[in-house]
Amino acid sequence: MNPNDPVFCQPPGELTEAVRAALSSGRFLSEIISILNDAQSTFEELETRCNACGKCCKFDLVDHKLFVTVGELGVVVAESPPLPAVSRRCCYQQNHLCTIRKSRPLGCRAYHCDSRIFDVNSCKVETYHKKLVQAHDRHGIPYLYVEFISGIDLLRNSTFF
Ligand code: SF4
Ligand code: SF4
Repeated sequence: MNPNDPVFCQPPGELTEAVRAALSSGRFLSEIISILNDAQSTFEELETRCNACGKCCKFDLVDHKLFVTVGELGVVVAESPPLPAVSRRCCYQQNHLCTIRKSRPLGCRAYHCDSRIFDVNSCKVETYHKKLVQAHDRHGIPYLYVEFISGIDLLRNSTFF
């Protein structure tokens, strides 16, 4: 874990408490999933090709950092408790495929190795990110924005699970 990652800007307990609050509200998690699905539909308007090589989830290879909200972390860990990460690679990838596809964060859905596609999707991400922030406000869930691998690692190493 890198101490410069934004997750460390907050006391670690703040993140675990926020995710705990998220997990205690089924309505909040459902709303987050619904926003993610809406975003997905928008991204799919663009015709893309993907050979499912899985490289984009190996952040050390593609030099990519994924940031997520508390709600997105809640949706992910509600589906599957985290495993140890190896070399900054997502612990949810098995045999090149995502094992939590229906729960994957916004950034996973927007990302594409073709920068033209990623650029178009990135323009749309802000709209859905705002909706995620508003959902936190509406449900009284603390909003934090953290680097995914560090956040998952922190939850895994805490007394959370
Ligand atoms: S988006 Fe690109 S890097 Fe990611 S799995 Fe598809 S082809 Fe591979
Ligand atoms: S959650 Fe799924 S899509 Fe996102 S980085 Fe992990 S394996 Fe890849």
